Amino acid sequence: MSLNYNVNLCISLLYLPPKYEGMPTNRTFTMIKPEAVENGHAGAILDRIIKNGFRIVALKKTRLSAELAGAFYEVHKERPFYGELVDYMSSGPIFAAILEKDNAVADFRALIGATDPSEAAEGTIRKDFAESKAKNAVHGSDSNENSDIEGNFFFSKFERF
Ligand code: UDP
Ligand code: MG
Repeated sequence: MSLNYNVNLCISLLYLPPKYEGMPTNRTFTMIKPEAVENGHAGAILDRIIKNGFRIVALKKTRLSAELAGAFYEVHKERPFYGELVDYMSSGPIFAAILEKDNAVADFRALIGATDPSEAAEGTIRKDFAESKAKNAVHGSDSNENSDIEGNFFFSKFERF
């Protein structure tokens, strides 16, 4: 490989667009949480998601072990609710999905509503389906970077269409 090649490669890398969290992308990641699946709301929640313009790129029903739930929510390790969250998220089957829409992360957060359903806006998924702040029916990625990490946690490239 010539010096010229390496210099040109470095120069072209400098011109790649920067990847930063606030940049809108068209994918997000969601889970329908154990209590919503247990209560029979999975179909209605998926229907709501699709009717709001999200396309399902990948979808599976699975169950997290406590170890995997702990790894998924690693960012919350120091928070007081972490142990309870891990127990809850491993308590039964969930649906995991990658969703596509323009401005997916922000639009999906708007569709699901505030973490605590008592503070969630009318018509949001959490307002209509969540039991409590802990058992709040759905997960939604909070940034483009985390939506990639979370989608990769559950799905290979052969499971995305
Ligand atoms: N959670 C909880 N108690 C709290 C805050 C959060 O049990 O005081 C749970 C809840 O299930 C929430 C998850 O931990 O969805 C992750 O918390 P986060 O602050 O990221 O909320 P989200 O992004 O899900 O709205
Ligand atoms: Mg969050």
